[in-house]
Amino acid sequence: MSEFEGKAILITGAGSGIGRATSLSFAAHGAHVWVTDFDERSAAKSVELIMEAGGRATAVKLDVRLEDEWEAAFALTDTHVTSLTTVVNCAGKSILADTFSMSLDQLRLVMAINLEGAFLGMKHGIPRIAQSGGGAVVNISSIMGLKGQARMAAYCGAKGAVRMMTKAIALECADLRNKVRVNSVHPGIVDTPAWQKHDPEEATMLAGAGGASGVLDAHEVAKSLVPIGVAASPEEIAETVRFLASNAARHITGAEIVIDGGMTAN
Ligand code: NAD
Repeated sequence: MSEFEGKAILITGAGSGIGRATSLSFAAHGAHVWVTDFDERSAAKSVELIMEAGGRATAVKLDVRLEDEWEAAFALTDTHVTSLTTVVNCAGKSILADTFSMSLDQLRLVMAINLEGAFLGMKHGIPRIAQSGGGAVVNISSIMGLKGQARMAAYCGAKGAVRMMTKAIALECADLRNKVRVNSVHPGIVDTPAWQKHDPEEATMLAGAGGASGVLDAHEVAKSLVPIGVAASPEEIAETVRFLASNAARHITGAEIVIDGGMTAN
């Protein structure tokens, strides 16, 4: 029997990229996946892909910035699920802007999605995971939560805060002996639709390379920025997330796992 058989997992930002790949990965290993995204259609598409592959999943609209939507999503899992064991906080957004022209609203948006979203997922998710007998939270941060990058102050600030909040809440869970582990994952360059969401000027600034064709290609950028020369696939990030949620990671909490092809090694 697969490790996640009979277990339920809730994933945010699951309509695209890493969130979608993670949803497919957990479903392939037996979990019932609650696929959440603020874009309902993309969440429904992820569920369709899971079902085509023979898995089980439910799409839920969830804007991670909104506490009432978190409460509504968990009210649904409370009704239908006996053992919610994992929450993956994957929804994220970056804005490329120099600090001196960035508006406070832009900063707040990035903080709200990346940091407040993860906070709300933990605030409402951890008591439920504990009630199921334990499990894990995995927060998707970034290498920009570990090192600075010019014109990315909002994103670096948010992802760095996710990293530290992860550690603080991991220790709270440890104090409570509630058997909930909390870890963060720090990808470098991952080939997801996020890269195409930047306009060409932003793309060139963001990457320090690429953008020449007007469409930023993670693989092109990775050739110059990633020591091993290639971008990660979303499936490679998903495998680490699944490992952190598994019993094999039972002694890992408050930790950060970097998946960056060597970008932070020097
Ligand atoms: P993506 O753009 O492919 O997917 C992000 C998803 O989040 C989308 O489906 C979007 O609809 C959803 N989303 C955005 N705002 C939301 C909100 N308020 N509430 C709910 N859902 C919302 O991006 P991705 O590359 O798969 O990124 C996933 C995570 O990985 C993010 O946290 C990102 O910061 C992080 N990350 C990505 C990379 C990379 O190179 N792609 C590198 C490091 C970290």
